[in-house]
Amino acid sequence: MIRPPGQPYLSAPQIRRRVRTLAASIHKTYRNRPLTIVALLKGSVFFVVDLLRHLDPDTEVEFWNISSYQGTRSTGKIRGLHHCRGNFVGRDILLIDDILDSGLTLDRTRAHAKKLGARTVQICVLLSKKRKRVHAVKARWVGFSIKDEFVVGYGLDLDQRYRALPSIRTLPKGV
Ligand code: 5GP
Ligand code: MG
Repeated sequence: MIRPPGQPYLSAPQIRRRVRTLAASIHKTYRNRPLTIVALLKGSVFFVVDLLRHLDPDTEVEFWNISSYQGTRSTGKIRGLHHCRGNFVGRDILLIDDILDSGLTLDRTRAHAKKLGARTVQICVLLSKKRKRVHAVKARWVGFSIKDEFVVGYGLDLDQRYRALPSIRTLPKGV
């Protein structure tokens, strides 16, 4: 196994405990309401699977494959949204992403979910960067508020690498 990059930031047990608490809160909020989870790929893949283990078995799941990053920087554009579909009319939608940074991704995906007929759209992110948002997006559920650093692991990548790390690590910017 190659040496993991960067510095340790959040351990696998820390993440596991926090995900369980988030799932309990989501479960309580949507009790008796049919819920559709929309996971933004690829970054949220570990997070959404770990959440789903604790949610109702009739929770519906969609995966939307979109991207905005190149290296450690956002391109400022969302690619792939026009392919994203779902039977959302009158349903409660919960968008799941790995990280809230500028707000661009969740602003655009939230608008798209509403356009598809969602009754409500809420947001759950594992990580939220403490920085000024470019787009006004608030997440109802946040796993961890983190400093404005580039992180990898537990689904988060650097040019498609390091997603498979079980913990989250920080990398120097501009790598
Ligand atoms: P936003 O659109 O809010 O600026 O950024 C959200 C998306 O950018 C996330 O879904 C994620 O894919 C990517 N991103 C933002 N910050 C980081 C980071 O620190 N590490 C990684 N690996 N991806 C990030
Ligand atoms: Mg992402």
